[in-house]
Amino acid sequence: MIIKNLGIIGGGQLGSMMSVASKKLNINTIIFSDDKDAPAQNFCDEFIFGNYDDKQKIFEFISKVDIISFEFENIPFKTLNEINKLKPVLPKPSVNRIIQNRLAEKDFINKLNIRTTRYVSVEKKSDIEKLADFLPGILKTNTMGYDGKGQYPINSIEDINSIDIDFSRGYMLEKLVKLKKEISVIVTRYGINSFEIYEPIENTHENQILRHSIIPAEISEKILEKSKEWAITISEELKYIGTLCVEFFIDRNENLYVNEIAPRVHNSGHLTINAYNVSQFENHVRAVCSLEKIPLKKLSNAKMVNLIGNQIKPYRNNLKLNNNEFFFDYLKKDIKEKRKMGHITTLL
Ligand code: ADP
Ligand code: MG
Repeated sequence: MIIKNLGIIGGGQLGSMMSVASKKLNINTIIFSDDKDAPAQNFCDEFIFGNYDDKQKIFEFISKVDIISFEFENIPFKTLNEINKLKPVLPKPSVNRIIQNRLAEKDFINKLNIRTTRYVSVEKKSDIEKLADFLPGILKTNTMGYDGKGQYPINSIEDINSIDIDFSRGYMLEKLVKLKKEISVIVTRYGINSFEIYEPIENTHENQILRHSIIPAEISEKILEKSKEWAITISEELKYIGTLCVEFFIDRNENLYVNEIAPRVHNSGHLTINAYNVSQFENHVRAVCSLEKIPLKKLSNAKMVNLIGNQIKPYRNNLKLNNNEFFFDYLKKDIKEKRKMGHITTLL
């Protein structure tokens, strides 16, 4: 099938960058979002605003596209599965079912003999009293968390008295890793043993939000190989199609852990737009639209810095850039604290 119209669920910056990549490949993008101000409407060919449970709007969306992908993994599995009966959804909804739930995700990873942090399910506050072994730790919601949302550091049993958490949602307690570094590996899988993989990216977080990403990551050859091997194993086991990111922790004893899987293009991969011959976005569109796979070539080392909240302001005011610097404005309507407003990539 020749794919001309790609549907994307979600209208944030990732949807925008997928739209830009699609345009280059002569593919139209139709974006469906529940945010009427979604910034991706500035970049896509057609924009449909509706709630994710609005059947009529979803049908309208489906009728206009050949295939559907998404920019965020938390679309209800049931919705994705229903859509998939009418038009193919890639990556497959079964991937989301696993990854939407941190517990299912971590169980899946451990079954592959890949190390994760130590974790345990928590259903009620009093469960934590028996879990001193997992402290200091972080209590995380099993579902819908991102950018550190739904996470509570717990240093001691006493801390639980001061937390006010609604336990009607499931949680897990994760032992804190003494972090040396965080890296991510982005891989685009086209089919069985057919993939392109980017070199590991070193990431620095501030307040659990990604601040900057850089290649090359300063890591040992062993960690470099192992992280790539694990990312490939995960994408093969999921029978994944498209771009996927695996986030890793490296502790002070040089142990490697998978933190989490993002079944989509990823913030740490923005630098691939300028640093590689094919970006993570173009690779994603190529894979889901069954286009040719092009061997990856790194063009340059690079550093990407997220512009959060007001940090975008000087760049919007025509700040002079050097010719190795690339500024991206996500064109979000309002500047908000902790909101990713844009990024700047510098080729090194
Ligand atoms: P999100 O889904 O919000 O990205 P993560 O689980 O990736 O959640 O956590 C966000 C960040 O918080 C991580 O990138 C890391 O910096 C820090 N963090 C989370 N869990 C741990 C842990 N167990 N040990 C140390 N740091 C952690
Ligand atoms: Mg994360």
